[in-house]
Amino acid sequence: MNMTSETKKPKKILIVGGGTAGWMAANLLASRWKDIEVSLLESKEIGIIGVGEGSTPHLKFFFDTVGLEESEWMPRCNATYKNGISFAGWSSIPGYESYFHPFPAQTDDMLTVPIFFSNIYARMQGNNANAHPDYYFLETHLTKKNLGPIPNETFPFGVGYGYHFDATLLGQFLGEKAIDRGVNRIFGTVTEVVLGQYGAITAVRLDDDSLLDADFFIDCSGFKSLLMQGALKASYKSFNDNLFNNAAVVMPSAISENIPPETRATALSNGWAWKIPLTNRFGNGYVYSSDYITPDKAEQELRQHLGLLDSDTAARHLQMKVGRVEKHWDKNCLAVGLSQGFIEPLEATALALSLETITRFMKHYENGAYTNKFAETFNKEINAKFDGVRDYIVCHYKVNQRKDNDYWRDNAANNHLSESLSKILHFWWNSKDFAKDMYINNLGGSYQPKSWACLLAGYGIFPSLNSNDYKSMHDMEQLADFIRKCGLNFNPHNKLLRLSS
Ligand SMILES: Cc1cc2nc3c(=O)[nH]c(=O)nc-3n(C[C@H](O)[C@H](O)[C@H](O)COP(=O)(O)OP(=O)(O)OC[C@H]3O[C@@H](n4cnc5c(N)ncnc54)[C@H](O)[C@@H]3O)c2cc1C
Repeated sequence: MNMTSETKKPKKILIVGGGTAGWMAANLLASRWKDIEVSLLESKEIGIIGVGEGSTPHLKFFFDTVGLEESEWMPRCNATYKNGISFAGWSSIPGYESYFHPFPAQTDDMLTVPIFFSNIYARMQGNNANAHPDYYFLETHLTKKNLGPIPNETFPFGVGYGYHFDATLLGQFLGEKAIDRGVNRIFGTVTEVVLGQYGAITAVRLDDDSLLDADFFIDCSGFKSLLMQGALKASYKSFNDNLFNNAAVVMPSAISENIPPETRATALSNGWAWKIPLTNRFGNGYVYSSDYITPDKAEQELRQHLGLLDSDTAARHLQMKVGRVEKHWDKNCLAVGLSQGFIEPLEATALALSLETITRFMKHYENGAYTNKFAETFNKEINAKFDGVRDYIVCHYKVNQRKDNDYWRDNAANNHLSESLSKILHFWWNSKDFAKDMYINNLGGSYQPKSWACLLAGYGIFPSLNSNDYKSMHDMEQLADFIRKCGLNFNPHNKLLRLSS
């Protein structure tokens, strides 16, 4: 390997793959390790997956870290703001037909979450307390009113938000920015990964038979995982036994005049459909299990759901491999993006996991003086992140209240639950202080207790009522008025996007 004598800091890093994961990694590496030569190899023949258009607030952290302004990147990528995700049709309990999962806001944490939890506890005792999440959160209110997440300057509380964007345009934009930062872009298709004496990667061979060498390799080659799963034979842990969906069909539809600041996730017969608003179109997709419905029928159902039965809009069919590698960093290789694993996109977490992977790797690699000293710690941390997200997604299916067909019944009957998810469900039913027990037991690493409570209370997972004459200790009208007044500090989403004055 080509290291300097004083330090093990690599001189050359090669990123293999130019999808969103590859170009994000390129920007982060080039903006921090200015003395390392960073190159990115992508294949003109193979192309990128081209979906993945919703984010969590982590994406804002990424843009802030690499110094890219919303005013520049958002219009280039037809991007919109995202206050959270609304879930429709996941529960058949009356009054719980839909709920909103908002991103965190300071007003909630300081003022409204304690009231939510207090009412949940009262409802768990069988009292007729209002414990539906839609009454408690600022961003739920903003979404109902079609307001964006950026307040006027005088509003003293922080509000977290994500984005929707065109994945292909974002890749192109990040590519330009990385090249401006000095990243070398190389076109070619890998035909062989060359290993050295100790099993580390020394080079990749391209289709023109040339060799590209480097000291460290970042595998961003998508589901193929050419380096990590291919050459280094990383073992792979499939999540198939408790996440049944393995395919998606995708198609656009016309955007509405008022652009909603939310992703919509609607349960369908054998999976769910996303609706993601961009400035020029809605991106839609039906995520389903091919064990329960054929691709043709899934496409028909999505067309019907979108009112596009008679339209000639083209659909794209995709396969998904759901699970993760055991080692995300092994020898001189780091896997980022689909090459390290994927959890179905119900909460749009893939880019957040990629970012977590790159930023934690950089920290551990630096702290270990550019050796593998902290690789094991890192792998445990990233596995815990993946498994925490998996548990949260699995819970959406496990507690579903639909009994209309085998897909939903099999999901509800699924008992392949992790120990942590079983504990969370146990605390939901039995704890006097759900949030505290989550923290004490270290269960809030990927999703906060508030998010778990939104999901479980949003589905109406409560015991039967035994008292209808419950007098709440909280004034719900006062709470609604507080949230309404907070909302007066926010602007229409279209105005934030400069689509209206
Ligand atoms: C149905 C679906 C919906 C999704 N929705 C979301 C979402 O809402 N939010 C979210 O965050 N994520 C989502 N994702 C995940 C998201 O799409 C990916 O995490 C993201 O696009 C990053 O992909 P990638 O860069 O790892 O891989 P890809 O985009 O597949 O890029 C792979 C790269 O590797 C290169 N390559 C492959 N083989 C070779 C070779 N032999 N030689 C050279 N180069 C090669 C290709 O040229 C390409 O540049 C979704 C995924 C799916 C399947």
